[in-house]
Amino acid sequence: MTNEYYIENDKKYIANTYKRQNVVLARGKGSTAYDVDGKKYIDFTSGIGVNSLGYCNENWVSAVCAQAQTMQHTSNIFYSVPDVLLAEKLCKATGYSKVFFANSGAEANEGAIKVARKYGTDNKGKDCVNIITLKNSFHGRTIASLEATGQDVFHKNFYPFTGGFRYVPINDTAALEKAFDNTVCAVMIELVQGEGGVVAADKDFVKFVYNFCKEKDILFIVDEVQTGVGRTGTLLTSRQFGVIPDITTLAKGLAGGLPIGAVLMNEKTGGVLGFSDHGSTFGGNPVSCAGAYAVLGELLDKGVLEDVSAKGDYFRKELMAIPAVEDISGLGMMIGITLNDKYKAADIAAKCAENGLLVLTAKTKIRFLPPLNITKEEIDEGLSIFKNVLG
Ligand SMILES: *Cc1c(COP(=O)(O)O)cnc(C)c1O
Repeated sequence: MTNEYYIENDKKYIANTYKRQNVVLARGKGSTAYDVDGKKYIDFTSGIGVNSLGYCNENWVSAVCAQAQTMQHTSNIFYSVPDVLLAEKLCKATGYSKVFFANSGAEANEGAIKVARKYGTDNKGKDCVNIITLKNSFHGRTIASLEATGQDVFHKNFYPFTGGFRYVPINDTAALEKAFDNTVCAVMIELVQGEGGVVAADKDFVKFVYNFCKEKDILFIVDEVQTGVGRTGTLLTSRQFGVIPDITTLAKGLAGGLPIGAVLMNEKTGGVLGFSDHGSTFGGNPVSCAGAYAVLGELLDKGVLEDVSAKGDYFRKELMAIPAVEDISGLGMMIGITLNDKYKAADIAAKCAENGLLVLTAKTKIRFLPPLNITKEEIDEGLSIFKNVLG
């Protein structure tokens, strides 16, 4: 079967919700992928920041296969080994005291929203349910996480929502103060807006939000679904902003390519949800947890995390030398590239794929989210294709 067969039948049988590149990926190793016809691609996408160790990292594969051969699932009415091991490692490495495991970023944010509303109503009465989020944010596609997402383009056609969200522009402290009243239980933000175009929040703004939440006794929630797990050079990006949120959500890169979401909670929030307040059939799946444990092992114990900042700097230095590149945003290996406006990001991404390089877009920018263990050779090979495409 050729690429064309799969593309045709994808269009025929799979709901048409994705604007896909013209590529049928079949296998990969490290940061190099191959399509069904055997064509090679350097991959600067890691899915969308999911394959944090690239394709088929050996230790990750062993851990996942071993768990699949031992026990693939059990209900959350029983304890299970991989969940406990992962939870302990994750809490110790991040400084959080408890975690709830979900299956995706949207679900992790739903969990955070539930904690915030219960915290508000437990402590401040039944009307304390509103959450302030940022304009241009992205928090997921479920109805509540979609409503939390401060972008009208995603909202249209999906009303009615449940209510309970207020939006303020990023870095606008006055708007935040104005949006606050006694019915607000939390502020939820991304530190670098990913889908919004790789837009980093100002450090001063983030510190302001942190102090504001503390002062008002409301929860500070940081959505690190995209920025977390080493993506920006530290395990959590909040450390680089000098804040410790009451809740951090993780997903994308956490299990290295398997579905997982995590709601990390501190002393204040860890006890808010009690028996039967929340749950998930698949949450804490043993195979996903074993994969995540292996990812943390590679990042923290095998030195992968140490090199992320330097690799990000190298990308930025090389990119700045390309005449078509006007500006670079983001942090570490979360890279947004503004091209000269004679280029259209979507066209460049398609042209890159034709030439053997996989890249993402974010709004009008090109976005790179390479595997965290990408080699210098793979970076150079990919960047040389990128340069050629830009002429
Ligand atoms: C991708 C993303 C989500 C949604 O994650 P899903 O796993 O697709 O539900 C939420 N928040 C941020 C910041 C994201 O980048």
